[in-house]
Amino acid sequence: MLSTMPHTPLRIRRLLEHGATRHGTAQVTTATETGVVSASYADVAQNAARLARALRDLGVHRGDRVATLMWNNQQHLEAYYAVPTMGAVLHPLNFRLPPDVIAHIANQAEDRVVIVDASVLPMFEGLLPMLRTVRHVIVNGEDADRPSARRVSWHGYAELIASQPAVYPWPDLHEDQAAAVCYTTGTTGAPKGVVYSHRSVYLHATSVSLPGHFALSHAERMLAVVPQFHVLAWGLPYAAFLTGMQLAMPGRFLAAQPLVDFIGAVRPTKAAGVPTVWQSVLDHIAADPARHAEICSLQEIVVGGSACPPSLMRAYEERHGILMLHAWGMTETSPLGSISRPPADVDSAAAWRYRLSQGRFAAEVEARLIGAHGEPLAHDGQTVGELEVRGPWVTASYFKDQGEDKFHDGWLRTGDVGSITADGYLTITDRLKDVIKSGGEWISSIELENLLMTHQDVLEAAVIGVPDEKWGERPLAVVVPRDQHAPVDTAALRDHLAELLPSWQVPRLWAVVGSLPKTSVGKFDKVALRELHAKGALETSAAA
Ligand code: AMP
Repeated sequence: MLSTMPHTPLRIRRLLEHGATRHGTAQVTTATETGVVSASYADVAQNAARLARALRDLGVHRGDRVATLMWNNQQHLEAYYAVPTMGAVLHPLNFRLPPDVIAHIANQAEDRVVIVDASVLPMFEGLLPMLRTVRHVIVNGEDADRPSARRVSWHGYAELIASQPAVYPWPDLHEDQAAAVCYTTGTTGAPKGVVYSHRSVYLHATSVSLPGHFALSHAERMLAVVPQFHVLAWGLPYAAFLTGMQLAMPGRFLAAQPLVDFIGAVRPTKAAGVPTVWQSVLDHIAADPARHAEICSLQEIVVGGSACPPSLMRAYEERHGILMLHAWGMTETSPLGSISRPPADVDSAAAWRYRLSQGRFAAEVEARLIGAHGEPLAHDGQTVGELEVRGPWVTASYFKDQGEDKFHDGWLRTGDVGSITADGYLTITDRLKDVIKSGGEWISSIELENLLMTHQDVLEAAVIGVPDEKWGERPLAVVVPRDQHAPVDTAALRDHLAELLPSWQVPRLWAVVGSLPKTSVGKFDKVALRELHAKGALETSAAA
């Protein structure tokens, strides 16, 4: 028996129309050079219609890729709605990658138009001659210097949309049509394109909004620190129009001091971003405790993208009363995979253990653990294997790339290693490429890092495996001292670890550095650390 329900396509257009009308007065607030600027969702929707017309006039057709090189801001939000809803494909480019990598990505995606923030133009100058398919550049903001390039027309964003009508005949698109493409950051291989559909974006937006997930509603204002070029800002711009949640966009003002200024000015209730950002905010406030009052509007921070050190979670909760929610995901998973709200019926010690894990999987995300010979492993919270996932917002292939080794019988091989409890909580112990294989046993680099960062003298820590004649590999701990002017006693750090771990897991090799290399999205860059070590550029010593 079939249902009596229609098959209504799930499209970004519905989110746009819902947000524009039923949440039309909700605001997106952006930090700009000249202060804080707000616009209502009704205004954003009108500008999205104007932008869609302008793009159509420039010759953008269905399926064409429109790239952005933008910070988190109102105009970027407008592009998030205009481009997919008119039937084109939004391609947020990560401008922190090297120009030749950006060019490779933009050329592979065949981007026809680039919308670029004026503040990114100095970088764009070197990039533009390498862009083979771009025909139009739209500059958002003052564009004093336009780099020259043949076959490319230049437009100002504000002027381009000013004369356009505020309505657009949005087409009826198939829900499986491409809405946006994001590339993996390529930290462990060439960047790969993941193409999201209208349906996957819509379903993902409903799931992140759930009370058991990010708990989003019209009563919240979200500070989106996670860049809009990183997995569509974790879906927040779409969840905002779905729920009426207001958005606070920090633009390019991401250093701790201006970020805290912005939080103090716009009073968000929630925030989202990678751990390194929150560490810098924490340190900033520790140095100037009076600023605590400025962040006290925040109730919850969603933190993901890399393992969140438990010391960071505890510090926010104990010092500032802010709950950190640990979440796991990937570009390939849109990104929500799991999030760490503990079950209702556990005591506070157990609740902490749950919260420190990467969390419980979303209903739509199926997960399994696979052993070294491809065999499925138990979900008993102990057994460790490679995580594989599948679901309606988990990619099943890459754009123009076979990626054969990344898929296994219709499941995505995540490259992450960990365990799953019987009640579906994930603990990631490592990336497959970062795990340290010592004498046939695996040592979790994440566990060593987390324990090191609980030590009062350590600001940041990253652990990599380095070749060892006897054991195959041994851990090398690279630490950043909390006090750059005081020597770090690595023997004391080793003793600290020896109290908590079996002795064979404790690193003998140490390096003390002023800062750790970070990837384009702010994660510790272990590939760069391994290269530094291989070149002999890391000064190491054995803890006495
Ligand atoms: P990206 O596609 O750049 O977002 O990177 C995805 C990868 O980031 C995952 O495969 C994990 O290795 C890592 N990652 C994301 N969230 C977490 C987390 N909460 N804990 C540990 N690793 C994470």
